[in-house]
Amino acid sequence: MGATGYFIHRDFWKHEMGAGHPEGPARLDAIEDRLLVTGLDHALQRREPSQASLSDIELAHSRKYVASLRGLSEALREDMQAGGPTHSALDPDTAINTHTWDAALRAAGAALEATDAVISGELENAFCAVRPPGHHACREKAMGFCFFNNVAIAAKYAVERHGLQRIAIVDFDVHHGNGTENIVAGDERILMVSFFQHPFYPEGGAQSDAANLVNVPVPAYTKGMDVRELIELMWIPRLQAHRPEMIFISAGFDAHREDDLGQMGLVEQDFAWITQRIKDIALQYSQGRIVSCLEGGYNLSALARSVEAHLRVLADV
Ligand SMILES: [Zn+2]
Repeated sequence: MGATGYFIHRDFWKHEMGAGHPEGPARLDAIEDRLLVTGLDHALQRREPSQASLSDIELAHSRKYVASLRGLSEALREDMQAGGPTHSALDPDTAINTHTWDAALRAAGAALEATDAVISGELENAFCAVRPPGHHACREKAMGFCFFNNVAIAAKYAVERHGLQRIAIVDFDVHHGNGTENIVAGDERILMVSFFQHPFYPEGGAQSDAANLVNVPVPAYTKGMDVRELIELMWIPRLQAHRPEMIFISAGFDAHREDDLGQMGLVEQDFAWITQRIKDIALQYSQGRIVSCLEGGYNLSALARSVEAHLRVLADV
């Protein structure tokens, strides 16, 4: 069995969207505390990622969008120096501060370096404890706390830069990964399987008809046992048929029953079970290659316990 990488960087704490915003740096404190107190950090290879290059970001985002985000970031810095506001809002719940640009580049960089390390065999799998998250970020648009789509960029990178032919993306965040869908829909090399609460933010997803998407909308208050059954029925046969050479996970933990940003009923053991089923597929078809990136999860205690459960399966401890 190979090692499990854990990618994290101080820059991920510096991005914040205002006091009281649920997607805040305290999420990473909760995860780090949990790894320390459980001793799980000893089982992981901790890495500090560098920033992704713009050419790699542009595998999933348009040059125009990337330039506009950079421009907003520079304008905010100038405004702030002149005594202006500390944040610039992109939508009602998504804002940048002067550290967002660097953090977002580094979050994508974590996914890319994890991809390199897993493909080279240096690591068997990896978890990227990143902020900002990515799965709502569309080719041309930031939204839903997301700026660059870390998982979609890494999936495209595995195909375009490493020459892999078949990739799978698994998204178990409570919200539909509309950004990832926007970027990978129609790309037959990439199979995306997901479940999400529906109807719910960001709407859509239930009617998607691209052949490479397996979208499983579920009603509020769905419990773990029902989700497991749907996964066996809907995801697993498609994953087996696709025979992915590598699997990316959009690991959101906001489907936890204690998480108020969603209304689903999963608990830690459900996240462990889902991770194990993904790992079974990875061991069968993908040489165990998994790169998992943090998406949502806003109840700090539930998030930390769920990440622990996820990591215990990835690291086999
Ligand atoms: Zn979410």
